[in-house]
Amino acid sequence: MTTPFDASLDDSDSLHEECAVFGVYGTSDSAHLLTALGLHALQHRGQEATGMVAFDGENFKEMRGLGHVGENFDAGSEALAAMSGHAAIGHNRYSTTGQSELKNIQPFLTELAFGHFGLAHNGNLINAERLRSSLVASGALFQSTTDTEVIIHLIARSHRQTPEERIIEALMQIEGAYALVCLFDNKLIGVRDPYGIRPLVLGKLDDGYVLASESCGLDIVGAEFVRDVAPGEMIVIDEEGCHSSSPFAKQNSKFCIFEFVYFARPDSVFDGHGVYQARKAIGSELAKQKAISADVVVPVPDSGVPAALGYAEESGIPFELGIIRNHYVGRTFIQPTQAGRTQSVRMKHNANIAMLEGKSVILIDDSIVRGTTSRKIVSMVKEAGAKEVHMCIASPPTISPCFYGVDTPDKDKLIASYMSVEEIAAEIGADSLTFISHDGLYRAMGHAEGRDKDCPQFCDACFSGDYPIKTASAKFSTGTKS
Ligand code: AMP
Repeated sequence: MTTPFDASLDDSDSLHEECAVFGVYGTSDSAHLLTALGLHALQHRGQEATGMVAFDGENFKEMRGLGHVGENFDAGSEALAAMSGHAAIGHNRYSTTGQSELKNIQPFLTELAFGHFGLAHNGNLINAERLRSSLVASGALFQSTTDTEVIIHLIARSHRQTPEERIIEALMQIEGAYALVCLFDNKLIGVRDPYGIRPLVLGKLDDGYVLASESCGLDIVGAEFVRDVAPGEMIVIDEEGCHSSSPFAKQNSKFCIFEFVYFARPDSVFDGHGVYQARKAIGSELAKQKAISADVVVPVPDSGVPAALGYAEESGIPFELGIIRNHYVGRTFIQPTQAGRTQSVRMKHNANIAMLEGKSVILIDDSIVRGTTSRKIVSMVKEAGAKEVHMCIASPPTISPCFYGVDTPDKDKLIASYMSVEEIAAEIGADSLTFISHDGLYRAMGHAEGRDKDCPQFCDACFSGDYPIKTASAKFSTGTKS
């Protein structure tokens, strides 16, 4: 298959990726079907490619393809019919670069000294480039351009006795963010990096267990939510049940705050906090931070909806759907070029004139990255006849790229890294612009005291430039992320 990407049009300087992982163990012969469902619920985390590896007690089967889960694993598909097993793992991948060949699509399935080994990874390893160079220098042959493959080579080279010990030894050499699911030797393993940057949750079915990037992946297969896999925890699921260990040195938890702001599905729950409730609370904090006299509160759908509800509730200003979203267009960022992104903003949103004409509008979105969306939306709302547009953003200014697995462009493309709030307001054509404060964001996350400056309760590097994992390598990896 060829990729639709044209490298000559690429305006991104580095490779970006966001992903979902899913795993199921112990269901009589339906693990592959549950995995297809789980991946479907996690589609928002990666829309470019999908894959699964299933194990039926004797054989491993694999299937991967470019595009959405439904295009690859729909109910009647031959591909899905060819899969079977009581255990399976799956992966959704999103990359804005040309590295979308089949060889990069996870889960990877390899033959190691202890047998077949399947691996799916969400996150980004920051010392992968250095590890990869030294592995290549010592003769390793890489099949893909992903940092995930480094983990497999490290496991393959480990001389520890059990596969679990080999995995731990490999992960000890790794710096960065990972939520992994592995399938081998009739075992399903889930591991989170010691900082717990990327999410992974555990669920229970009548006859088995499920691991998923988000709890919405458990709901769709009817699994009961058990708990989040803890930072640095390794969960091994086998015929005897579910076993937990914490093999890594303990670190302060640094869960990605951007999962709450934008990335996760609003019906997911992390660490006891509902994503929807968190977003509403951010909206309410925004209203407390900046009282604006206006006629309507309008969200940029879908990502601004819960925060706009929170703002409207707190301020008493009516909430209206002044912008309507076409649901048959993917996320704006899915377009690898600036031209594509600009076009797709128009394809995605339309003004609901009756709700905007002659009105003073508070427009709410989750974030401003390059500024493309806000510029288009503000001008659309003004063209629809709005008297004033006051833009409120449910996150602090995005000033630094993410090196831990969320797609953000390089710093020089982040509008807030080179413009003041007033300059951005002028650039996007808004009458005023307000970003939630850092403390306001943390209060909305349940930390009444605000952000702990000495030891922030989350990874908020994209908003603060404060990176929790200091790497031994001189620079961050730019390998294809997972
Ligand atoms: P921009 O147009 O570059 O300012 O992008 C901002 C819009 O992209 C916001 O409306 C967000 O909802 C959305 N967004 C922010 N971060 C991401 C991301 N990592 N992946 C996809 N979409 C994003």
